[in-house]
Amino acid sequence: MNNPFHSIVVPIYFEEEVLPELYKRMSAVMDRINGETELILVNDGSTDESLPIMRRLQQQDSRVKVLSFSRNFGHQMAITAGIDYAQGDTVTVIDADLQDPPEVILELIEEWERGAEVVLAVRAKRLGETWFKKFTASMFYRVIDGMTELKIPVDTGDFRLMDRKVVNALKQVREHHRFMRGLSVWVGFKQSEVKYVRHERYAGETKYPLKKMLRFAKDGITSFSYVPLQMATTLGFIFAILAFLSIPAIILARLYWETAFLGQASTFASVMFLGGIQLIFLGIIGEYLGRIYNEVKRRPLYIVSEKLGFDELTMDLPPRTRTGPLSANEPVEMLIN
Ligand code: UDP
Ligand code: MG
Repeated sequence: MNNPFHSIVVPIYFEEEVLPELYKRMSAVMDRINGETELILVNDGSTDESLPIMRRLQQQDSRVKVLSFSRNFGHQMAITAGIDYAQGDTVTVIDADLQDPPEVILELIEEWERGAEVVLAVRAKRLGETWFKKFTASMFYRVIDGMTELKIPVDTGDFRLMDRKVVNALKQVREHHRFMRGLSVWVGFKQSEVKYVRHERYAGETKYPLKKMLRFAKDGITSFSYVPLQMATTLGFIFAILAFLSIPAIILARLYWETAFLGQASTFASVMFLGGIQLIFLGIIGEYLGRIYNEVKRRPLYIVSEKLGFDELTMDLPPRTRTGPLSANEPVEMLIN
């Protein structure tokens, strides 16, 4: 391709301390990229100085484009919106906090030029993160790997480059509980990897406290796996077989040993134990049911309240009125007019 167009998507949630430095490093990288570039900053409902800073950057540099949500819709939705609006031949998603060095984008693009269609940035090393974060993250990747058919490479985040073909495929996936790093693998295509060292957050604090991390993990697992639902069947069989075998055992015990099974303690413990397991599985079923409910409501994935720097083509689009897949390059607008 002679003059390729590269889009870079960055989700922003309370990142006022990081934005100026992010722009500095990112624009230096964009200057070095061979071809045209755009930087799409998606404000995910931050109410600090992030949006004013983004507006200012947009005025200074026409490569910068700004999308702002009407409230916080979450990291995965911010990425989704950025991808929906990106016009590039490639779209790279990267976090704002400079944990993922923007300079790595140059390597991702090189890999794309060699023919890769999805280039994953794989963390060779993680600097400046607590052992707890590293431990939970590695557990998470291993659980996902064990429970799903999907081969999500261990130690990859959302930092990745996707070819236009992949982006168009991904844009057809409009599910609400979005686990983007899984979906971009799920769509297939030729995958490739680039290793990098993940740094400390430049400034500010993580926007993923434990509670959000757990919800994210739950989304990841339930989006791609029925294993939690099926576990009830397996456990049910195990207990049914045990119960069946226990009948002759109890009869024999009573015949030879008068005081066997007289107490209430064993009954009490087993009823509580099985009751607990049943409630857990009721909860798991509820988890999936809730997700189905969310999908059937067909609400828009996100609501944009402000956009700057996009050309007319992507500006005034009708709200999404149908539910069929979107065709290639068709812009997706989720505005409620
Ligand atoms: N983020 C977002 N919406 C949220 C939470 C986070 O857009 O509700 C953005 C955040 O600004 C950052 C990226 O998602 O660019 C990753 O968040 P963070 O660095 O806090 O996560 P961590 O690296 O600690 O997992
Ligand atoms: Mg981070």
